Amino acid sequence: MAKSYDVIVIGAGPGGYIAAIRAAQNGMRVACIDAWRNRDGKHAFGGTCLNAGCIPSKALLESSELVHRARHEFSKHGITVSGLEVDVGAMQKRKATIVRQLTGGIAGLFKANKVEGLVGRGRLLADRKVEFTPESGEPEVLEARYVILASGSSPIELPVAPFDGEAIVDSWGALEFDEVPRRLGVIGAGIIGLELGSVWSRLGAEVVILEALDELLPAADRDIAKEAEKQFRRQGLTIHLGAKVTGARRTDKGVVVEYSGRDGAQTLEVDRLVVAVGRRPYTDGLLAEDCGIRLDERGFIPVDDGCRTRVKGVYAIGDCVRGPMLAHKASEEGVMAADLIAGEVAEVNYAVVPSVIYTAPEIAWVGKTEREVQESGRAYKTGSFPFVANGRAKALEQTAGMVKVVSAADDDEILGVHILGPMAGELIAEAVLAMEFSASTEDLQRTIHAHPTLAEALHEASLAADKRALNYPN
Ligand code: FAD
Ligand code: AMP
Repeated sequence: MAKSYDVIVIGAGPGGYIAAIRAAQNGMRVACIDAWRNRDGKHAFGGTCLNAGCIPSKALLESSELVHRARHEFSKHGITVSGLEVDVGAMQKRKATIVRQLTGGIAGLFKANKVEGLVGRGRLLADRKVEFTPESGEPEVLEARYVILASGSSPIELPVAPFDGEAIVDSWGALEFDEVPRRLGVIGAGIIGLELGSVWSRLGAEVVILEALDELLPAADRDIAKEAEKQFRRQGLTIHLGAKVTGARRTDKGVVVEYSGRDGAQTLEVDRLVVAVGRRPYTDGLLAEDCGIRLDERGFIPVDDGCRTRVKGVYAIGDCVRGPMLAHKASEEGVMAADLIAGEVAEVNYAVVPSVIYTAPEIAWVGKTEREVQESGRAYKTGSFPFVANGRAKALEQTAGMVKVVSAADDDEILGVHILGPMAGELIAEAVLAMEFSASTEDLQRTIHAHPTLAEALHEASLAADKRALNYPN
């Protein structure tokens, strides 16, 4: 007889593993099938985020930022550094240890929550049956009352610059370099392109980013994006906007990239090239012909607001469905799906999903940009406060950037908060909480913020929205 479960989750990234744990907490008998393979051929839970995305990139961003500070900022504190050396091998080892600890942690969490972790591929069949093909061994058919699909995404490959795993690489490849390239090309100035470009630039590479669009970070607020662009250029990143890559070929020295730029056809010679032009949903081999689900025209699994597919009892979450490709969005959808399965009321508030770019300064935002509010026709007010007037930022010697609050003119509701500055990714949590509770600008103004903290900049920006900032001229 086929083995049966209450819930089978396919994929153990931040969407799938969280869904599996929550479903088990809700009293369900759960299996989570995952096929991730690391470069050494070994399996680890955690998907893209833990193995090849959020976590390894943040580990290297931190190490490279320390190098940058030692080289350029320590002297301002009166600290002289001489004989500074960078050991890329040791940095990569530290990164690998962090990844191993966290992915191993998921295996431990599965055990503690009695989730059965199954290593191999899963395929949805008709009638909520799942074909499980273990790493070695014959496929078996499992039965479930509910199935959650969480198969994630994979990097988009440009036909004009195909990956070769060596000189032309995807984001994962760029996290694995064992030495600093002398010249590094990056195609795409999105979140991933900017983060990876920053890592290798801080470690000494000459980095050139080619971006097809005419403006940087179109999804961010214009004031923030413009100031960020200024900061990145000042740090030595070369960013060509309006530069569409048309070809890339290997030579004995590296890669020659062809692009059409503002001044016509151009070429760029680099040692290595990172293609970071976005990700696409990954559903290869996931859906049997007769399972009842058809992908949409962009390859996503169609779902409603509750992540239900058109097949009763089958849910889909994370990067393989619509919405921003972010780990926390995937996890929250996992919690929602597991809770809906348990008969609870659950939803994801898609209006307040924060975005963070872990460059230096960091960029973080939640809610609407000023341009979006303008286009909606709603009357609004804005308040900004620069970190140069914030005591903690001064002490940290990190005064670039600002906090900007966009609020409704009529009922004072906060509509968006945009931050460029130190620890922006941490600071945005307060704004997310405020917006989750539909807070007004006045609520923020009347909330006590410890002194001296970076969070005071958010407090002051909310005051500035009513021309009542206390530590900066209105
Ligand atoms: P994934 O993490 O992709 O996991 C899917 C899992 O399912 C994988 O293990 C895969 O092997 C498995 N799978 C797929 N098909 C099958 C099958 N048929 N059978 C069995 N298993 C299967 N997001 C952030 O929020 N913050 C960040 O700082 C951030 N940084 C990033 C940096 C980089 C370089 C990259 C590439 C991404 C980054 N992201 C970040 C995005 C984040 O990694 C994704 O949004 C997140 O991993 C999506 O989670 P998921 O569970 O939907 O899918
Ligand atoms: P994201 O989708 O945020 O990961 O960002 C990917 C970026 O790559 C976007 O800003 C795209 O405009 C950019 N991009 C896509 N194709 C090309 C191309 N052929 N040349 C240069 N940039 C590109």
